[in-house]
Amino acid sequence: MNNNPNQQITAGKRNRRVSGISWRLFGALAVFIVLTLVIIWIFQVVLLNIFYEKSKIDEFYDAEGEIIESVGDIEKLRKAVFLHSIDSDMCIRVFKISNGSADELVGSNPNSGCVIHNVSSDGLSLLYENAVDSNGRYIQKVSNMPDAKRASSTVYVSVREIGGDKYVLMFDSDLAPFNATVETLEQQFSWIMSVLIIGALVWALFVSRIICAPMKKMSRSARRLAKGDYGEHFEGGGYKEADELADALNFAASELAKNDNLQRELIANISHDLRTPLTMIKGYSEVIRDIPGENNSENVQVIIDESERLTDLVNDMLDLSKIRSGTRKPELEDFNITETIRTVMQRYEKLTEKDGYTVSFDFDVDVCVKADTTMILQVIYNLINNALNYTGDDKKVKIVQSIKDNVVHISVIDTGEGIEEEQIPYIWDRYYKVDKVHKRAAVGTGLGLSIVKGILEAHGAAYGVESSKGEGSSFWFELEISSFCAENE
Ligand code: ADP
Repeated sequence: MNNNPNQQITAGKRNRRVSGISWRLFGALAVFIVLTLVIIWIFQVVLLNIFYEKSKIDEFYDAEGEIIESVGDIEKLRKAVFLHSIDSDMCIRVFKISNGSADELVGSNPNSGCVIHNVSSDGLSLLYENAVDSNGRYIQKVSNMPDAKRASSTVYVSVREIGGDKYVLMFDSDLAPFNATVETLEQQFSWIMSVLIIGALVWALFVSRIICAPMKKMSRSARRLAKGDYGEHFEGGGYKEADELADALNFAASELAKNDNLQRELIANISHDLRTPLTMIKGYSEVIRDIPGENNSENVQVIIDESERLTDLVNDMLDLSKIRSGTRKPELEDFNITETIRTVMQRYEKLTEKDGYTVSFDFDVDVCVKADTTMILQVIYNLINNALNYTGDDKKVKIVQSIKDNVVHISVIDTGEGIEEEQIPYIWDRYYKVDKVHKRAAVGTGLGLSIVKGILEAHGAAYGVESSKGEGSSFWFELEISSFCAENE
């Protein structure tokens, strides 16, 4: 459940503002249908007459060409006129002008309502004169002619000189039936539009159901996951994108489950680690208070040691959380890392003298690096402490400084039992312990390597470990050399 009222309000607002996929799909389909129909309507209805007229005029020109070729042969001419007249449903008249008067050679009148067959001889003369004035070619649209039976016609008159003779060709074609056709088409379009829009709505609902079904299932699963049910399995929906989303969510769920386990383990470990020294402090304090003669320096030392361990643990936890959250950023300065390691070694001298440990340091020259001195010191201490804790019976630990190009490579090598290959990736995790036996009470806080990792990553430095079971370990890190420093005697 979402307990944050602000989030609930935002989610509520989002639901109200954003329309569902079915409406979006329907909107897109409806726009597409309307656009398609508008384009078809423009071509089929608005431009129909223009296209039709153009095709009729093309037919005039075709017929004219063939008739002109046949004017020398009367039989051929009759045939051409007859065929074009029937084929294209047009009236044709062919005149020859000689000695100022026009003789009709051929005429065809398949449609008795033709203008050129019904107009008076004055009308014909007018058409002829208009053609002569327009360079021999004249087109006229005629409508509501008193003599003609048709509502409207297109008349084409062509005047040609062939072999010294003048010919007049007259064509006439009907344009009328289109008004009725256009009206029918317009009605049909409104029906088609309504049917397609309803179809689009049904189709959008159907398709969105297919798309949304897996989404709805997954969002139900996600809600269960948010409530802490990490075993939830997300199922795809038989199409690629849904399957990919389900895979991604399943991966997220398994990572959340892992994180949850880690967190539980972390809390268990922290409480265990805090409780151990606290129990010791409480126990020893009670002994000193209740049992006469137990108030000795040895018992008090145990209390002091345990308090120190507790302080170390709390400090380590704070360090780690600061490094991980990025609040503790490295303050870079130039310092002599070789000299720093030598100083650290001096601090270990007492321990080595007392318990028989040998810590050696191999190096050629002093090198300076640009890094956070305190943080790098922490890295070196952690690695040497671990090496001392885990080294073998020979109690030997070796620190080696080597230089390659402009990088200094520092390794801390022990002769202990080493780490199994499959465990290596995990040792940098908080509280990871290879042997699972809680031996941290004796050695370290269990946070050492995660602090090392955090510091080196904050510096962008390379680090790692080479180890195999039974052969000791070599923990290493690398830093860029800023300069070769003057050797410190
Ligand atoms: P711890 O306080 O347990 O040493 P660390 O974070 O420093 O915590 O180390 C994590 C784990 O890595 C250790 O518990 C140990 O199992 C393994 N480890 C670290 N350093 C060494 C080493 N030099 N040799 C063998 N195992 C090591």
